[in-house]
Amino acid sequence: MTISELINPATEELLRTVEQTSVDGVDDAVARAKAAQHDWARLAPGDRAAALRSFAAAVDGHVDELAALEVANSGHPIGNATWEAGHVRDVLQYYSATPERLSGKQIPVAGGLDVTFNEPLGVIGVITPWNFPMPIAVWGFAPALAAGNAVLVKPAEWTPLTTIRIGELAVEAGLPADLFQVLPGKGSVVGERFVTHPDVRKLVFTGSTEIGTHVMAGAAAQVKRVTLELGGKSANIVFDDCDLEKAAATAPYGVFDNAGQDCCARSRILVQRNVYDRFMELLEPAVKGVTVGDPAAKDTEMGPLVSKSHWDTVVSYVPDDAPVAFRGDAPSGPGYWFPPTVLTPDRSDRTVREEIFGPVVAVLPFDDEADAIALANDTPYGLSGSIWTDNLSRAMRVSRAVEAGNLSVNSHSSVRYNTPFGGFKQSGLGRELGPDAPLSFTETKNVFYAIGDA
Ligand code: NAD
Ligand code: MN
Repeated sequence: MTISELINPATEELLRTVEQTSVDGVDDAVARAKAAQHDWARLAPGDRAAALRSFAAAVDGHVDELAALEVANSGHPIGNATWEAGHVRDVLQYYSATPERLSGKQIPVAGGLDVTFNEPLGVIGVITPWNFPMPIAVWGFAPALAAGNAVLVKPAEWTPLTTIRIGELAVEAGLPADLFQVLPGKGSVVGERFVTHPDVRKLVFTGSTEIGTHVMAGAAAQVKRVTLELGGKSANIVFDDCDLEKAAATAPYGVFDNAGQDCCARSRILVQRNVYDRFMELLEPAVKGVTVGDPAAKDTEMGPLVSKSHWDTVVSYVPDDAPVAFRGDAPSGPGYWFPPTVLTPDRSDRTVREEIFGPVVAVLPFDDEADAIALANDTPYGLSGSIWTDNLSRAMRVSRAVEAGNLSVNSHSSVRYNTPFGGFKQSGLGRELGPDAPLSFTETKNVFYAIGDA
């Protein structure tokens, strides 16, 4: 049996140990999930809906407990963690309507009745990263369960605790224990077995583009379905005709939220050259105003990085001779702290091209609308982005021209459970959330019923 040690990133103290699932453990879980899925898919739609609503209610009754676990395991500020736990409830509630609404089509044809059915796939494997353990897990498991599937979730090695607890709450709420199982363990063991096991019929992978590419290649061997949510290097484009005060005041929160460990982080701020100096003057106090500290404190806006090894990676992007414009604060002493950092590099610098996944932002000037669009799109990624302008036509032109799945104009929002989420280019494949997500956990079956003569 393999045990992994979890470290509280704000204190560097040992939090807990967790037993890692073996390959045999995965195989056993898949077999049990397959049997449970058979029964689940045959339940009355209203009964499946009620079960998901009970699950949502159980999560609702444990929001504070889940939030405290995430603070300790991941270093998320308590305000963020509370939102994340509430989001699990909301997503479950949203998709609890699915079982009674997942209707196929009746298509007019000659000689009979033609109907489509949205059949569940079977057992779904959800593989999550460490940056948003609760939201990313529920984006996969809620619509998958709602569409009649069983789900196995493999949380990231560093941050399994809230997902494990959510698995227990599902059982407390009355879901069959084998239908929804959480299997902590290594990506190279549990994740890899999800890829190779023939009875895992679809993978929902969120993580790095590097591992996502490997997962997709492995899935090809069985023509296994995949949804991929991968990296990002999103642009926050600030035009000279926008509310510059508001753009500058909000820019830190568009990138430093969750200490920049956010696939949607607007980690490149592109500013029209004629307002660049003024923008930087306004940005400095906004960055210095970000409250970094104890994630358990109510007014904390940014906590530590998730782990020592991730801290080492982020540090490597800001060497002593880095073009630092200014930085915010961070506590000293134990904990993987890193201050909000603003760089003014050349367009070709690795801090402009690579996903840092920490509180580091690159600010670059641009000349005109065409230059802004070209610069925003000069990346293999295409997940999110923001456009700041008070010119409606420009907002429409630029939002259509930027190659990214989730854009916001005059705000930095990207995730709402009722709207689709996902990436262009190497940021992913497929979409999560929104009204259509359950369909990506089904196969369309078309049946023609010939009508004989009377
Ligand atoms: P990662 O790719 O290292 O790991 C992600 C998950 O894959 C983990 O659970 C890991 O154990 C597992 N894994 C590792 N090797 C595997 C293998 N061979 N087979 C199957 N699974 C394996 O990513 P990470 O460092 O945990 O997360 C950070 C990355 O996730 C960033 O690139 C970030 O942009 C991305 N991300 C994307 C989104 C999105 O929605 N697009 C959301 C959050 C994070
Ligand atoms: Mn309880």
